[in-house]
Amino acid sequence: MQTRTVIPLVPHDHQPAPMTSHPMPANGKKFFIWTMGCQMNEADSQKVAAMLQEVGYRKAESENDADIVILNSCVVRQAAEDKVAGRLDYLARLKREKPEMPLVLTGCMVTRQQEKLKQRFPHVDLFFNPSDFDKLVAVVPELEMLEDDLASLPHYYQPQLSGNKVGVSAFVPIIYGCNFVCSYCIVPYRRGKETSRPFSDIVTEVERLVDNGVREVTLLGQTVNAYGYDLEEKSSLSRLLTAVDKIPGLERLRFLTSHPKYMGDDVIDAIADLPTACEHMNLPVQAGDNEVLQRMRRTYTRDLWMERIATTREKIAGVTVATDIIVGFPGETEEQFMQTYDMLEHTKCDKVHLAMYSPRPGTLSSRWEDDVPHEEKWRRHQELEKLQLRVCTELNAVRMGETYEVLVESKEKGRWTGRTRGNTLVHFDDDGETDVLGKMVDVRINHTSPWFLMGEAVSAPR
Ligand code: SF4
Repeated sequence: MQTRTVIPLVPHDHQPAPMTSHPMPANGKKFFIWTMGCQMNEADSQKVAAMLQEVGYRKAESENDADIVILNSCVVRQAAEDKVAGRLDYLARLKREKPEMPLVLTGCMVTRQQEKLKQRFPHVDLFFNPSDFDKLVAVVPELEMLEDDLASLPHYYQPQLSGNKVGVSAFVPIIYGCNFVCSYCIVPYRRGKETSRPFSDIVTEVERLVDNGVREVTLLGQTVNAYGYDLEEKSSLSRLLTAVDKIPGLERLRFLTSHPKYMGDDVIDAIADLPTACEHMNLPVQAGDNEVLQRMRRTYTRDLWMERIATTREKIAGVTVATDIIVGFPGETEEQFMQTYDMLEHTKCDKVHLAMYSPRPGTLSSRWEDDVPHEEKWRRHQELEKLQLRVCTELNAVRMGETYEVLVESKEKGRWTGRTRGNTLVHFDDDGETDVLGKMVDVRINHTSPWFLMGEAVSAPR
């Protein structure tokens, strides 16, 4: 699991046309959704926003202005859970002033055993498990008329039509939960076992997104490449990618987050062969030492991960590679840390999401001694930061003079920003005449840095 900057599909005050022809009985009411955590939560919040939009709700600027408040929580770290609890305590005052305003809690903080939560936060009207969207009917009766449509309603609120950001990218959850039990991770306890969404629901959802102007779709799951194994009619991520790729009008297809154990040749071949599948592989490894990986209960070895990366590079021309690393896991010695260092130096990833270990209550590793001192974790973190600075400087320097197709996501201070198919950030100057927001533009690179590329537009927007 990881977090990353989310391409915004932010609800806004503009009142767009609904996706279906349902009447809008809740006209005038407003919702406020507060989201923490990963893209799965972002996508679920979009789905809730889409549902409320369908029955006439509009986005409120703040909780004070809302007729319903929904908190979508994250518990991946204790600090995140504490933040949600703080927000809920703060909202108790508002709830006293507006007792008729439903207050809803969803996300990973909500488990099947909700009694404790109810005792702790008696002012919350509804707790619902992530993806149990139909439960919302209890506090939004207007949704009853949508009941048949809830499963197929896209995880999508209409794109922003004003401001300097645009919604041409959407996240689509395809599998919930996780069957692994990594010793440091709380997710399986909160999100339950892997549950794939029906194949046809996902394809229909992407078709509807594309009909509404989306050009890039990211399929999501805690273990996205485990998709389909739990379905009655067995399927797989590669089959799903193949079906989604055929949707006319879709231009870019991505998926997050993969587990090395499930990264079969079929998925790698799909990226290589399908025109919309972007040449980017995000494959979290977490550590480069086999003993540490074993204690993490990651179920693979360093060699397996390195072999999967090598095969990916062999089969997919120009592919970029990203991974996740945790430093300072309980018992991690200097030699074991150096195994991670050497692996990254050898593999040269385009992006490494680095984290320092912190125990998460309720997990197996939280029962072990957190024996790597904070200063030592920080030093290891800095060592890898420095390494990545060097690696990314080298990798990006080679991109000087190259031309990349960039999907433009935002504009700030007279400069457009977008991403290549390989997920590299690219900035280029605004000519003051052409609006390229949400468009594809070919950009020739004339400046490189470890973290982004800069260049000039060399094509008309399309
Ligand atoms: S694969 Fe491991 S880290 Fe990822 S969600 Fe499952 S248990 Fe957590």
